[in-house]
Parts: sequence; C-alpha cells; structure tokens
Amino acid sequence: MTLQTLSIFTLTAKKERYQTSKQIIMYGKIKEHLQKELEGIEEAGLFKKERIIVSPQDALIEVEGGNRVLNFCANNYLGLSNHPDLIRAARDGMDSRGFGMSSVRFICGTQDLHKKLETKIAEFFGTEDTILYAACFDANGGAFEPLLSQEDAIISDSLNHASIIDGVRLCKAHRYRYNNADMEDLQNKLLEARSHRFRVIVTDGVFSMDGNAAPMDQIIGLAEKYDAMVMVDECHSAGVVGETGRGVTELFDVRGKVDIITGTLGKAFGGAIGGFTTGRKEIIEILRQRSRPYLFSNSLPPSVVSAGIKVFDMMAETHELQDKLHGNTKYFLENMRSAGFDIKPTQSAIIAVMLYDARLSQEFASRLLDEGIYVIGFYYPVVPKDQARIRVQVSAAHEKEHLDKCIAAFKKIGKELGVIK
Ligand SMILES: *Cc1c(COP(=O)(O)O)cnc(C)c1O
Repeated sequence: MTLQTLSIFTLTAKKERYQTSKQIIMYGKIKEHLQKELEGIEEAGLFKKERIIVSPQDALIEVEGGNRVLNFCANNYLGLSNHPDLIRAARDGMDSRGFGMSSVRFICGTQDLHKKLETKIAEFFGTEDTILYAACFDANGGAFEPLLSQEDAIISDSLNHASIIDGVRLCKAHRYRYNNADMEDLQNKLLEARSHRFRVIVTDGVFSMDGNAAPMDQIIGLAEKYDAMVMVDECHSAGVVGETGRGVTELFDVRGKVDIITGTLGKAFGGAIGGFTTGRKEIIEILRQRSRPYLFSNSLPPSVVSAGIKVFDMMAETHELQDKLHGNTKYFLENMRSAGFDIKPTQSAIIAVMLYDARLSQEFASRLLDEGIYVIGFYYPVVPKDQARIRVQVSAAHEKEHLDKCIAAFKKIGKELGVIK
C-alpha cells in the first residue's frame, strides 16, 4: 500500500478505526526505515537467503527444483535426523503421552518422560542432574543470571556462541573476555578477576567456524589454580568428540571436573529441538527455581522427549556411530590435505577449508553446488576479515562414495579456480 492509498483509507475509516489507521501511518515511517536497512544488508552482500529442502534432513537431500545434492553443511553429525528408530520413538511418545504439554514444567508440564530423559543425559555426561530447555539458546540464556550477581565475574572465550554472549548480558556479573583458546590470556583475565566473590570460566567445547576444541585440561588446571568454576557448551562436541562421543570432557580426560555443561538435542542427538544444562545438583536445582527460560516457556513435547530418550539409549549401547564419524573425518581430512588444501587445525567433524578471499569462497561454494555438493562459504563478519572459508561438516550418515564425490568435486573446482595445483 502506498502512503496515498493509506490516507484515503484514513478518510473513509470510521471514527473508532482512527487509532488503527494512525498506527498504519506510523508503520509507514518504520517501514521505510526497515526497507533501507534491508537494502543495506543486500548491498553489503550479507542478505541470508534460505534454500528450500523438500526431503528429510540426510546425507543426500532434495532441494526445491528437483536437484539432489550431497549435504555437507548440516549439524547432523551422527546421521540421526532421519533415523527410523527415532521416528518410531517419537511416534510412540505421541501415542502414549500425546502431542503437546500446554504448560511450563513447574505447573503441569512435567511427564515421567521428561524426568527419564534428564536422568539419561546426566548418565551420559557423568553428571549429577540435568534440566531440559526448549533449546540450548535458552539453556545458555538462562544459566548465568540465577547463579551470579555483581559481586561475581564471568570469564568468556572471545569466540563463544551468541547465546552465551546474550546469557552473560542478562546477568549483572563483571565480564572478562579472553582470546580464543588462549590460555595465557585466560590466566591474565583470571588474575584481573581475583577480587570477585565467584568466578566462572565459560567456553564452547568445539568452536563452530574452525572446528578446534577448547583445551579443557588446561582450562581445568587454571580453574583449580585461580578458584573458578567451569562451564562448557557442548553443542558441537557432545556426541561427536571423544572416543565414545562424550564430548570435550572425554577428549581431554576431565570427566566430572566441569561444573556446568550445556548442550542441544538439535545437532548430533537427533536434530529436532531441545536443550539442556547438566552438572552439579545444587546448580541444576537453582536453575529449576530461578532460570527464566525454564520457568516461563513451554515444556518439550512428548515426541521430542521420547526420541531423546532413544538417542541416549543408543549412545549407552554402542559407539559405532562415533567410530564411523571419526573414520569419515580422518579420511576426508587426509585426502583434502594431500590434495593441497589449506585446512584449519581441527579436533572435531568441522573442517574449515581456507580460501581467505570472500568472493572466492562464494564462487567456490556455488560451483560445488553445480557438482552436487552442498556446502556454505563463510566470510566477514561471520569469520575474521580475509579469513573466508568453506566449512565442511562430516557426518556418520556419509558413505565412502559420498566423501569421495565431495573430495573429487573440491579437487576439480580447486584446480579450476587456481586454489590448488
Ligand atoms: C547451536 C548452538 C547453540 C544453540 O542450540 P539450539 O539448541 O539450536 O538453541 C548454542 N551454543 C552453541 C555452541 C551452538 O553451536
């Protein structure tokens, strides 16, 4: 609607509609403002378009228009997003416990299934108790404010996830930021934060753009020396790293030493939705009493919870999915490195193929898509300036032929674009 037609509308509007049309005209101003903002985003080349998928999430997906492509950009690390056992468990959950809860946990939104899943997650991580959230974004958003106040300090890795940054913002504790995985800098910040009542070091387990893991053994060492608690966000590491997929506490042999672990059901563990915080029992109990995203947001639905229980049953039984994922990652990395690609040091299933130039990263990804390989090129401001890359995410759902096809496409385009010889 143009402003002119809007004013005609205003004239013909009945008196009681006056308020409404005034609001529409007010919207006219913000509308212009938003359109300019959107143009700015577009001009900067930062406009995010969504590719429409018309099949389940899997190694091989069908995108709108009928193309079938190999998927190397989902967080479907264990290939569980379309696993028949999880689909069956979700159905069973719906059949036996219904569709939705229509309540928060503490009013009438807690079923036996929720308690069971919380116990299974604690068993998986070797922790005392677990609290479920609608997502890990909420788990992180609601973790700090109930535990810490202005007398305390949070010491946070510079590459931590947006939800940790937001959670820290919602809390009155003093903030310190250390350079990514830089233990000397962490030590300096711990020294600066000495006078506070409590200190907590918080880090992602695996950093999503490089694939490196936080050095948990050294972090625990510093935490012991400077009397700090440790919180780790295992979203990209749980299910993935460590011989049996227990995450960075297994990778660095520090199980039981981390006070707070947050994680998601939305990546390796089935990929639907749901988050959790697991750790010391008093911490979890305080979160149940005071964590706002838990208190004021709906319970996870039975289907999701039931499938979650199935995931952790599978994890307790076998680590064959981890074996396959680790084998796939090793195979992919070795072949890409020997082809001459420059790859960031990684300890996870995230493989950053460095191209440095933003335009090249977009061109490369687009040419790979023509070859049937779906990956994303990332550039500033998602990654530092002149650090553009293609991020490949390996999955246990990938078969050797998928990996070979991806490597062959990388080599072909790499040569065509002069990235490798
Ligand atoms: C994906 C992710 C989250 C958010 O998890 P959701 O369950 O999708 O809200 C939080 N932290 C990290 C490190 C993540 O990678």
